[in-house]
Amino acid sequence: MLLSLPQIDAPPRSTRTHCPYCAFQCGTLLNGSTAASMQIEGDAEFPVNAGRLCVKGWSAGELLGHPDRLLTPLIRGSFGDLLPASWPAALDRIAEAFRRIQAEYGLDGVGLFGSGALTNEKAYLLGKFARVALRTPHMDYNGRYCMSSAAGAGNKAFGIDRGLPFPVSDIALSRTLLVIGSNPFETLPPIGQWFDKQRENGGRLIVADPRRTPTARAADLHLQLTPGSDLALANGLLHIAIEEKFINADFIRERTNGFDAVRRTVLQYYPARVEQLTGVPESTLRQTVRWLAEGTPSMILTGRGPEQQSKGVDGVLGFINLALALGLIGKPGSGFGTLTGQGNGQGGREHGQKADQLPGYRLIEVDAHREHVARVWGVDPASLPRKGRSAYELLDSCGRDGGVRGLMVMGSNVAVASPNSGSVIERLKALDFLAVCDSFANETAELADVVLPVTQWAEEDGTMTNLEGRVIRRRKAVAAPCGVKSDLEILHQLAERLGHGDKFAFASPEAVFEEFRLATAGGTADYAGISYDRIDREDGVFWPCPSEDHPGTPRLFAERFHHADGKAKFHAVQHRPAGEEPSAEFPLYFTTGRYQEHYNSGAQTRRVSKLAGAKPIPRLQIHPELAARLGVESDWFVTVESRRAKVEFTVEVTAGIRPDTLFAPFHWGGRHAANLLTNAALDPTSRMPEFKLAAVRVIGVRAPEFNAAEAIA
Ligand code: SF4
Repeated sequence: MLLSLPQIDAPPRSTRTHCPYCAFQCGTLLNGSTAASMQIEGDAEFPVNAGRLCVKGWSAGELLGHPDRLLTPLIRGSFGDLLPASWPAALDRIAEAFRRIQAEYGLDGVGLFGSGALTNEKAYLLGKFARVALRTPHMDYNGRYCMSSAAGAGNKAFGIDRGLPFPVSDIALSRTLLVIGSNPFETLPPIGQWFDKQRENGGRLIVADPRRTPTARAADLHLQLTPGSDLALANGLLHIAIEEKFINADFIRERTNGFDAVRRTVLQYYPARVEQLTGVPESTLRQTVRWLAEGTPSMILTGRGPEQQSKGVDGVLGFINLALALGLIGKPGSGFGTLTGQGNGQGGREHGQKADQLPGYRLIEVDAHREHVARVWGVDPASLPRKGRSAYELLDSCGRDGGVRGLMVMGSNVAVASPNSGSVIERLKALDFLAVCDSFANETAELADVVLPVTQWAEEDGTMTNLEGRVIRRRKAVAAPCGVKSDLEILHQLAERLGHGDKFAFASPEAVFEEFRLATAGGTADYAGISYDRIDREDGVFWPCPSEDHPGTPRLFAERFHHADGKAKFHAVQHRPAGEEPSAEFPLYFTTGRYQEHYNSGAQTRRVSKLAGAKPIPRLQIHPELAARLGVESDWFVTVESRRAKVEFTVEVTAGIRPDTLFAPFHWGGRHAANLLTNAALDPTSRMPEFKLAAVRVIGVRAPEFNAAEAIA
């Protein structure tokens, strides 16, 4: 049966759904039944954002009827242009290319690249498409760039990976809050209301960040650490906690394993050494530990700062060790969590988009896990491929001997979002065939042989899982424009052409969700007890939720952790240098991050007039001391060079950055792309690239001769 989205029913005048962007997944009310008439307001009833939205959420409606919207499939013609084509022709071209490449190079000659922006239903069906329709091991997604180190650490320490193991409202209950390498006041401003309540309740905020961000400026204590020294900081704080007898011996004995090895390891991290490694004064280190230990309940939250490093898993484990040793975990207003980035970064990594995973966090290399999922899918377990390449390794293999020769990218702009992006673009160009499914012609689509236009957030039903592990409903508010299809429908029609249509024939997204519940049943991320009806009634359900009479699990770890013995595991972790450190040749740190006005590769937000008007270009942050040495001022241009590329940026002189560090946002492609400079050194466990740290030098400066906004065009 053909999966199709009805386009003639009249949508309701006001629809409760969620913002299309980040993992906070703010509740929104979409008022109006057409793209042109759409008004967006915050949903005061949704408990996570309680009515607040950031500027991205308010302005998201502009995307729906945007003139840049792709409304017809495109096929690259013989003169090199992308030309309009019919849906059957475009789908035939993709299926024929996949068949031809697999006949010549084997099943693993093709790959799929997914996204943390896809609904749970799409993420699930894309993973199934890779394993059942294409039978390729090479399926990964851009969440590998975002959350994989936090996931790796959570799995090692707790036996489960859920970004926040408690509701976000718990932030307000904490008395001491330590935030490492995250800038939520700028990247997800509605969370600020929980920080404000924490402050009103007498709580303190400590922020560790190389930049003096809006979040750091609001803190009682700012640890402006050296880039790449987060793990040394964590070990140093635990050293002090042991030395000053703040550790919780009862909690360690009753609820954890492995503390002795950690104790021996952190003995080497005496405060004077940690001050040298991190640049944070010993007195500030001691103050941090005292507040965490005495000002309880205390909470530790990490973001991409410590995670997007070649030692990201160990960095997060270092802070989990600290939280466990202080006995913080399992109580309201207390514990350890990570702030997930992408809209469905949480659900996207639970249900089979990762190269080593099957739905429900099952592992593709574990026979019992393969058998369960194969039974649900109605296939022979032996037919399922094994573990494939991680995101960057998959892209880096493109067009090489033994690598992927044909690739389909769904909902990810890998040409901008990947580290060492100049090399990734060259690899994409070396492919025999590239297909892209997206709403807009982004930098990756410009390289494609076939581009398929897809529905957007307000035009479709489905589920997302927010940063708390709360499964919520994305609801259709407007009819999709003529010419576009849902990713679900595309997968079904491609599967039909590849001879597996019966496995992908679903009448609706809800029907996909019903199969997906079965596939996750009994897994770590168990959604078996969650249904669309139940999400509607309860305004979201927290996983794990193994049965319909189970209440869901807002708070993990109150009684036990998810290892077989119910205990958490300490891991002894050592600070080590980054993939590349500053040197005489490349003397400065380069780090990247976000603007409030833009989201990820900017493919959507750069098209929203209000957002593009507020932040039209990326600006390179330079400390006044360094600016004086270089002889540059704000609005001048500097050329920054790493071992991989040279990029010219417009300067923003600010005391909010360290004198040894440069910062640029990564939302732009082309010759101003920050990711041309970044290093693809990978964490050995998570395969997370080291976005947060590259060694660079400034090789040219020039005064402005014309409007900076023109320079970006
Ligand atoms: Fe909320 Fe994030 Fe959307 Fe902003 S971008 S409105 S914080 S979900």
